[in-house]
Amino acid sequence: MAAITLRHIVKQYGDGFPAVNDVSLDIADGEFVILVGPSGCGKSTLLRMIVGLEDITSGDLEIGGRRVNEVAPKDRQLAMVFQNYALYPHLTVFENIAFPLRLRKSEFSEEQIKQKVEAAAATLELGEHLQRKPANLSGGQRQRVAMGRAIVREAEAFLFDEPLSNLDAKLRGQMRTEISRMQRRMGTTTVYVTHDQTEAMTLGDRVAVLRRGVLQQVASPRALYEQPVNLFVAGFIGSPPMNFLPGEVHGNRLRLPFAEVEIPQHIASRLKEGSLVVVGIRPEHFEDASVLEEHRRAQGVTFDVDVDVVEWLGAELYAYVPFSIQGDVARKLEELDRELDGEGMRTQLVAALSADSRVRDGDRA
Ligand code: ATP
Repeated sequence: MAAITLRHIVKQYGDGFPAVNDVSLDIADGEFVILVGPSGCGKSTLLRMIVGLEDITSGDLEIGGRRVNEVAPKDRQLAMVFQNYALYPHLTVFENIAFPLRLRKSEFSEEQIKQKVEAAAATLELGEHLQRKPANLSGGQRQRVAMGRAIVREAEAFLFDEPLSNLDAKLRGQMRTEISRMQRRMGTTTVYVTHDQTEAMTLGDRVAVLRRGVLQQVASPRALYEQPVNLFVAGFIGSPPMNFLPGEVHGNRLRLPFAEVEIPQHIASRLKEGSLVVVGIRPEHFEDASVLEEHRRAQGVTFDVDVDVVEWLGAELYAYVPFSIQGDVARKLEELDRELDGEGMRTQLVAALSADSRVRDGDRA
């Protein structure tokens, strides 16, 4: 197994802005790192450069301490698992898994191939299906065959490019746990590309968030959620996304569209009187005051809002609350929204309330 180091990696296709722009990242031996970001942010390009399917425009890539920029993909000792599995339809599961070993025929006896394939199949619970063809397998089983092929190669690292995006929700969940368990058991360095929030937050030791080819933040899922470094990361991580509200600083208070709150001491000194700030509130940090006990209500700020729509999800409900903004605040927010590609300001907020909430469509709450 090996550490993977990226130093100032750039990928330029043609003359537009670079698909990957000066990315530096140290992936430790045995670490599981997720690359996440909106469509077109450069995550697949980055992965393809690591595996060697794409040339690196500038920067250095090291695998296991060796610079590999010019090393052919087959000599990098990496195993890539694609979204479409890339299985051979005419070969059985056994032969699909054995394929990379047969390519290196001189190195393995028939007996060794059998042992390796059977061990991988046992790890992946494919032992019963070794004689089937891919067409007779479920999506999840095919996925596992593709992983089996990566396992038998005893690669230095696994690279996954959205491996679960063709599966239905239930199977995705199962495979997610399976990949996580397998990676922990084998301790193989893994880089995994996804745009799925749940995969990003549950699978990796660390998550690297990319936007327009630029690395925004690399941190544990929890740190990303609790201490995002900028508005993009704050808005990207979390579902439903964080609410961004405009706030105006007045003395030690912040005026929001529907309430005034006291400014916490630790940030008060950083805010100038009269300035406009963006306030981020996670949906789950709202509660329905009407179902709260008195002492809990007293701990928060209570305000009245008009609820537009309520979505009931069983374990919780989402309440959508429109609000209006005018004048300078509105202009400032439009600027910010442009900066965030239209993903920033909304004129409604979403509150994720507990299932015992009594809020209903059209209520004043
Ligand atoms: P998605 O989630 O949609 O797969 P991504 O984050 O993986 O997106 P990439 O596929 O890495 O994004 O693409 C990054 C940028 O590079 C995009 O703007 C894309 O259009 C561009 N790009 C990718 N491959 C090529 C290519 N072969 N030639 C020119 N431009 C490319």
